[in-house]
Amino acid sequence: AAPDAPLLQVGAITKTFGGFTALDNISVDIRKGERFGLIGPNGSGKTTLINCISGALRPQTGNVIFCGEDITQLPPHLRARRGIARSFQIPRPFKSMTVLENLMVGLDFAKVDSSLPEEDVAMSILTRMGLASKASAPTGTLSQVELRKMELARAMAVRPKLLISDEAMAGLSSSEVDEVLDLLISLGEEDITIIMIEHIMQAVMRFSERVMCLDAGKIIAIGAPAEVMGNKRVQEAYLGT
Ligand code: ADP
Repeated sequence: AAPDAPLLQVGAITKTFGGFTALDNISVDIRKGERFGLIGPNGSGKTTLINCISGALRPQTGNVIFCGEDITQLPPHLRARRGIARSFQIPRPFKSMTVLENLMVGLDFAKVDSSLPEEDVAMSILTRMGLASKASAPTGTLSQVELRKMELARAMAVRPKLLISDEAMAGLSSSEVDEVLDLLISLGEEDITIIMIEHIMQAVMRFSERVMCLDAGKIIAIGAPAEVMGNKRVQEAYLGT
């Protein structure tokens, strides 16, 4: 691929369930390092689109190009190995295991090759995510915000090029939302591309360089956050729910 080629190219994807069209001819390019917000009312097709990108679903038509390679027919685990991470694809944490042990399970899952001992790799990820002091704490003792950070740490363990954050902020206080956002933004600064599905609009506004709004399987707006939020069709789509 050309150096300035998009990291991810979604090309004219249509996904139907029976006679119902969940995604209708969706095309979008996402550049390397971009922080991309995906919004839309319930049932608009956000999860279906993410499933087509991560491989949980295959579209009837269209294709998904990642790093210049057509991955449309690849199963999820092979997409994960190419660098697409979605936190809940990784087996759930065991409450009695420590934070460090949980992260090491994530490393095993991703079959991450490293010259460093696995524990050192896991510790360096925890440090980066602000969880180093919790390494030996049982996961069951973590607060909500610490759990969200651990989920992100587990996704980071697969060393993703593309991280999909699916409602990571739900149920957090506004200062905790800011904490998780700062973390996500710092990952973006390291050239990790992030797609964030989020219902908390202030979080979407603060996080995203670009926002795309779906409604009934179609793109109704895409562009700068303020522009998309101010869009009449976007406002109507949310009013209707
Ligand atoms: P969102 O994530 O924006 O809430 P979804 O992508 O989950 O929306 O769903 C879009 C539409 O597709 C909804 O109407 C939903 O009922 C439908 N849908 C999603 N998955 C399936 C499925 N496996 N079978 C039938 N319909 C589905």
